[in-house]
Amino acid sequence: MVVRCSRLRRVVGCMVLLFVAIAAPAGAKAPDKPKLIVALVVDQFAADLFDRYRSTYTGGLKRLSGGIVYIDAYQSHAATETCPGHSTILTGRHPSATGIVGNVWRDRTTGKFLYCVAVPGADPQARGPENLRVDTLGTWLKASKPGARVVSVSGKDRAAIMLAGHHADAVYWWDDGKGFVTSSWAGTDGRAIAASAQAFHHTASATSHAAVSALWPTDVPAPCVALERPELFGAVSLSGHVPPAGFVMAPDGNAFDEHLRASPLFDRMTLDFAERLIESRHLGRGPATDLLAISLSATDYIGHTYGKGGPEMCTQIIALDRMLSTFFANLDALHVPYIVVLTADHGSSDAAERTARNGLPAGRIDARQLIGGLNAHLKQALRLEKPPIEGGDPQDLTISTGGNATLYALVRDEAIRWLREQPHVAEVLTRAEVAAAAPAAGTSPDLLTMAERFHESFDPDRSGDLFVVFDPHWSALVPRTPTSAVAGHGSPWDYDRLVPILFWWPGATTEIVSRPVDTVDIAPTLAAIAGVRTPLLAGTCLSEVANCKISIH
Ligand code: ZN
Repeated sequence: MVVRCSRLRRVVGCMVLLFVAIAAPAGAKAPDKPKLIVALVVDQFAADLFDRYRSTYTGGLKRLSGGIVYIDAYQSHAATETCPGHSTILTGRHPSATGIVGNVWRDRTTGKFLYCVAVPGADPQARGPENLRVDTLGTWLKASKPGARVVSVSGKDRAAIMLAGHHADAVYWWDDGKGFVTSSWAGTDGRAIAASAQAFHHTASATSHAAVSALWPTDVPAPCVALERPELFGAVSLSGHVPPAGFVMAPDGNAFDEHLRASPLFDRMTLDFAERLIESRHLGRGPATDLLAISLSATDYIGHTYGKGGPEMCTQIIALDRMLSTFFANLDALHVPYIVVLTADHGSSDAAERTARNGLPAGRIDARQLIGGLNAHLKQALRLEKPPIEGGDPQDLTISTGGNATLYALVRDEAIRWLREQPHVAEVLTRAEVAAAAPAAGTSPDLLTMAERFHESFDPDRSGDLFVVFDPHWSALVPRTPTSAVAGHGSPWDYDRLVPILFWWPGATTEIVSRPVDTVDIAPTLAAIAGVRTPLLAGTCLSEVANCKISIH
């Protein structure tokens, strides 16, 4: 095993790894053509979060830690959001190719904002993969062997659909008050889907009438109890206890659903539903390699609601470890060869106040005020009647000058000059700079420049004109009301880009790999294991996991 320590912050970990490298010989590769591939995505499972609670794992995360563990893995693009992140995992391509440049983007031909899994021209509530410009592992599996089944489930529509791709057999996501639902485009046998979803809906309804404390474990782990303290993040006051004090209020309607999504129970329900799908679809028992994609959303909702440094996230990660233990035990009981990969769609940052208390230079920037100030300045300086900047996300701003190219250049240059004078603005990139910043083939994700990171989530039809980078740990999120989100992700900094990538299969031996890898490497690796052809991808097959030559036949 090669251990490369490219960065100072890895040095201590690397010394430990060198010992492991010497002690543990490289293990056997994953089994060729397993009966089932399980692709698990834990939404917002930042690499540092996986590391922080590693010593507490006794269940599913401990099992996965005993396989091939990539400790320097990236969602390498700048737009570190859920839809782009999920779009890289089973396509082997960056968002610049998948076309999924954000959860929402402004279509430059129509000027309208579009949700990533909205169906253009259809009912606004319709959901589908139409905006995804490439194929996924599921398509390659089915093209190779028509008997292969592809099933995807998540707490979020965008996560389930991005993992499923264009030709899945069944796709489900959670819909508040309804349970796990699907959309007509996604299924080949609607009746079975409807029956299955309805059965689960009853379970979910029963849950919603149960005691609210059932959302959280009653036995809060000791490391989490030690983190308990009240917090004030902007206008949000948190009890800092588990279960959070908000849950003593009577649950009603959407409020209950919001509490449910931001609780460990939400992931357990998703995993329970996935187990039903394994059973009802006979996954792993067909003639070919089946794919089950599962995206677990609770970690993300908990991160946004409570931040990642408190007892709530601690309890969630330890609960996740336990529930994955049960899930894997049920996979074992199938008695078929299977392989599991676990990763995340992006990392995260904690609430800025807690980050600052922990000694990092952190704070909040009022993006609304910043863009308002920019527009006021531009109107005055260039004597304009209308504000020329559109968009609420400072990381992707659109200049609107009605096709006047001269005015466009004036607005762009003055906007850049003004923005660079503002506090905590680290960098401002133009559309032309980002479009031209294609990284050289083989560039390691840890070495990408800021412009290259933006290039990887840039699409000429769907991206804006100006890209603003704030100082690290400075969040453009301001909790204005008592129920606002307190923390998030989406920046091009490493804390939002670094994610775990773990491969495990029965018989796997531990290998800790520190060379930088990318989530786009997952799909070619799984394709090699399944022995299926892929189109030309951005990712490369991971040789610690697969016999990579297989992908070339
Ligand atoms: Zn996410």
